[in-house]
Amino acid sequence: MLPFLAIDAECAAVAYHEASHCCAAHRLQIPFRFVEIIRTDNGGYRGVMRSIAHRTTPRHAVLDLAGACGEARWSGEPILELFRTTAKTDLRMARDACDALGPRHRVDIYSALVQAQKLVEANWSSIERLAIALIERDRLEYDEVLRVLQPPIPVGWRSPRWPRQQASFR
Ligand SMILES: [Zn+2]
Repeated sequence: MLPFLAIDAECAAVAYHEASHCCAAHRLQIPFRFVEIIRTDNGGYRGVMRSIAHRTTPRHAVLDLAGACGEARWSGEPILELFRTTAKTDLRMARDACDALGPRHRVDIYSALVQAQKLVEANWSSIERLAIALIERDRLEYDEVLRVLQPPIPVGWRSPRWPRQQASFR
């Protein structure tokens, strides 16, 4: 059995959560240092994505909310429940990022959430690849994340062609 198939659901939830943050960071052009799944003392898991810069722009709000969007899509948990539990800190940071531009330019957190959901939906296959890589390796540096998101085309690979015979099916 492949190692990532033997993993428990909590670890996978953390992996999908962190993979969604990473994918959002990449699409929003926000570099970070690394992402890691840490095993806690009580047998659980905790995810960390170590950023480089301070998080004070609306783009960062989308990045903060993306983790819960990906976790909700994978687990089927209602996103509001995640914002009360695993993504509580993310929600607080997203609020701070939305408020950072001051009252006149303040970004509505619900618009940021819609953006995050769209981003996760549009990049789901990349998020799945990243989640699997994270489960296998526990920690990925930023350049490793980029390699997973942009896999090189294998040597000798050709795009599949539909057999001609099947086109004239009578
Ligand atoms: Zn998070």
